Amino acid sequence: MHEYKLVVLGSGGVGKSALTIQFVQGIFVEKYDPTIEDSYRKQILRVKDTHDVPMILVGNKCDLEDERVVGKEQGQNLARQWNNCAFLESSAKSKINVNEIFYDLVRQINRK
Ligand code: GDP
Ligand code: MG
Repeated sequence: MHEYKLVVLGSGGVGKSALTIQFVQGIFVEKYDPTIEDSYRKQILRVKDTHDVPMILVGNKCDLEDERVVGKEQGQNLARQWNNCAFLESSAKSKINVNEIFYDLVRQINRK
């Protein structure tokens, strides 16, 4: 089986752990346990093609529409600025676009 290494980045509390756990284990984690750091690795190799890193921009918690702080267009515009990367709104709670995020990334990696 092929192993893929993915990095999930974002501010604290946006749902990085919840999305990952929903994808891997199929459960929604209600309680907030701030993750400090899961793994460290010294980087010895230079990334070859720094201009075209497989990437997807995610706007999570789309189930909380009435508490929305970032407009959909803002997300789309930012993705356009980031080398036209993909953009998805998701919900770890309501299982919206959770698999899609990770599948799209793997598809991008395989295309390289
Ligand atoms: P992280 O710091 O980015 O890893 O954030 P967490 O995954 O720990 O999530 C922070 C809080 O937001 C937790 O209480 C989660 O239950 C909640 N949360 C995460 N994703 C969602 C979502 O899609 N919808 C809602 N309503 N809450 C979410
Ligand atoms: Mg976390």
